[in-house]
Amino acid sequence: MIPISKPLLGEEEQAAVRRVIESGMLAQGPRVAEFERAFAGFIGVNHAIATSNGTTALHAALLAHGVGPGDEVITTPFTFMASVNSILFTGARPVLVDIDDSFNLNPELVEAAITPHTKAIMPVHLYGQPANLGALDQIARRHNLALVEDACQAHGAEFAGRRAGSFGTGCFSFYATKNMTTGEGGMITTDDEGIAQRARMIIAHGMKVRYYHETLGYNYRMTDLAAAIGIEQLKKLPAFNARRAANAAWYDQHLANIPGLITPSVGPDRTHVYHQYTIRITPEYGLSRDALVEQLGKRGIGSAIYYPIPMHRQHSMRAYSVGELACPITEQMADEVLSIPIHPSVTESDRLVIADALISARQ
Ligand SMILES: *Cc1c(COP(=O)(O)O)cnc(C)c1O
Repeated sequence: MIPISKPLLGEEEQAAVRRVIESGMLAQGPRVAEFERAFAGFIGVNHAIATSNGTTALHAALLAHGVGPGDEVITTPFTFMASVNSILFTGARPVLVDIDDSFNLNPELVEAAITPHTKAIMPVHLYGQPANLGALDQIARRHNLALVEDACQAHGAEFAGRRAGSFGTGCFSFYATKNMTTGEGGMITTDDEGIAQRARMIIAHGMKVRYYHETLGYNYRMTDLAAAIGIEQLKKLPAFNARRAANAAWYDQHLANIPGLITPSVGPDRTHVYHQYTIRITPEYGLSRDALVEQLGKRGIGSAIYYPIPMHRQHSMRAYSVGELACPITEQMADEVLSIPIHPSVTESDRLVIADALISARQ
């Protein structure tokens, strides 16, 4: 069986966790501070704030920017529910704008969706490819809006030589399937001292000084156990990402001439960290996507559809007012996308098996 994702932890993580257990300091302590410093350095920002997961990072980042009831936040309907839920948690209204064929927000449509209520733009760097951060950063500046990047799938990805998560306020996830993991975990990155201070308070019950609560806050803190794993994973991340990129380059070449199968494209000025390698199965392929998933499964190949239902069509969203614009590209991509194994443990023989299955399934 070739799984669609596989966390890679070794002796280093085991030893680091053992040292935390032996220290007796299990909650937020020296390892969290060390992980924050290392991650801030990696992204190229002044501040990083560790959180309990990526969703809480997004929620706290929006709150730190003052997003609340009456505000609108522009984001994409082609994402994981956490992006939109984090907006709903603040009481703000998500405004969903269509994507382009890079699977990311279309900046032109973003600008057209801005109203006097718009407070923030939340691009999602889907599958590990940065959205058009140059254009979105300009739009945010021109309209005086916060830019909150959902970089939960984009650890180490770059736009114009700068890391995703360093343009606006970056939010990362260290869930088990991501490019690096702490089991569950998250991080907020920013150059803005004020945002960093507010985020730090919001994730700790609104306290700066212990038991003096200045604002409503939550317990969204990371543990030293998780941070100890994160420090080791961060050291390995460049090698992990290089293996993902090498697998992707191989697929790009070997899946290029299959009729009806479209390989992912990378926009200008971007480095893609391939959290997912996502192909499109179009009618010309001759076999439905569902039938292909079944064929792959029979041959022991894991695959997955990220994501089959756009956010504006989710049942949970019926209770909320959502700015739902026409999203034809999102609808099309939701019907066509299929992610195949790309993680660092995928070997050359795995790739051959997968490519052969994709070629022969349509015959
Ligand atoms: C994983 C993910 C999140 C949420 O992260 P968790 O750590 O699972 O809370 C948010 N947005 C996107 C795009 C993600 O992939």
